[in-house]
Amino acid sequence: MDNNCIKTLSVWTDTFKVPEFDSLKENINADVCIVGAGISGITCAYLLASEGKKVVIIDDGIIGGGETGNTTAHITSVIDDRFSRIEKLHGIDRAQMASQSQRNAIFEIERIINKENIQCDFKKVEGYLFFKADDKIFTEEYEAAMRAGMEVEISDSPLSSFKDYKTLKFAGQAQFHVLKYIASLANAITKMNGKIFTGTFVNDIEDSKEQVIIKTGKVLLLKPMMQ
Ligand SMILES: Cc1cc2nc3c(=O)[nH]c(=O)nc-3n(C[C@H](O)[C@H](O)[C@H](O)COP(=O)(O)OP(=O)(O)OC[C@H]3O[C@@H](n4cnc5c(N)ncnc54)[C@H](O)[C@@H]3O)c2cc1C
Repeated sequence: MDNNCIKTLSVWTDTFKVPEFDSLKENINADVCIVGAGISGITCAYLLASEGKKVVIIDDGIIGGGETGNTTAHITSVIDDRFSRIEKLHGIDRAQMASQSQRNAIFEIERIINKENIQCDFKKVEGYLFFKADDKIFTEEYEAAMRAGMEVEISDSPLSSFKDYKTLKFAGQAQFHVLKYIASLANAITKMNGKIFTGTFVNDIEDSKEQVIIKTGKVLLLKPMMQ
């Protein structure tokens, strides 16, 4: 093994093969073109196609081959930047808005899974946030999270390796197999006459009053980077 090369393998890409799509070979028209077939692009395309829009998705790799296929796939409303920081910067109302929008996103994913009957190992779980024992932010974050409307409580650590950490437990979090999820959404999009092209790099966008032209060119990436 090459000692200079550290390889990681995503559990999602290792356990599920996403469907393949052709590359774009001709000029086409659409109401909306989305660049990027990760969870953001696929979700956006699914919602627009559900509203009757003619949607095209273009990705330079395979679907889910960017960050999406390499995440921990923890669907969380606990914002990485911390509620205490958001409250300090933007006030309680905005912190509540941010928290509500994150919780709505989880409900939306669950709604889509139920509507499309997607088998993606979706499960509601509790989320834990660990703080070093002397971390002053702990109380600040606990109180700000409550003010923001989060269902949070001080808890024992569920992990022996984190037993010396102060712990916040958040209810209403979730996990799923993210590639199974987006593969089913891709399938639903094509059933609604949406089009998905992979292995196609978008290298320029021309915007005028009449139209937007998305230009594609050389393919840069054909496989997920981690494989
Ligand atoms: C290690 C890690 C763990 C994470 N864990 C979590 C987690 O547990 N929970 C969570 O909510 N978030 C997590 N995140 C963040 C999460 O990965 C991202 O928020 C989410 O997956 C981003 O999805 P996306 O669709 O915006 O981007 P991506 O999945 O990266 O999709 C963007 C796509 O656009 C394509 N693309 C870009 N430019 C072009 C172009 N010019 N032409 C054609 N195609 C193009 C890329 O190839 C890619 O496929 C994690 C991130 C990392 C790095």
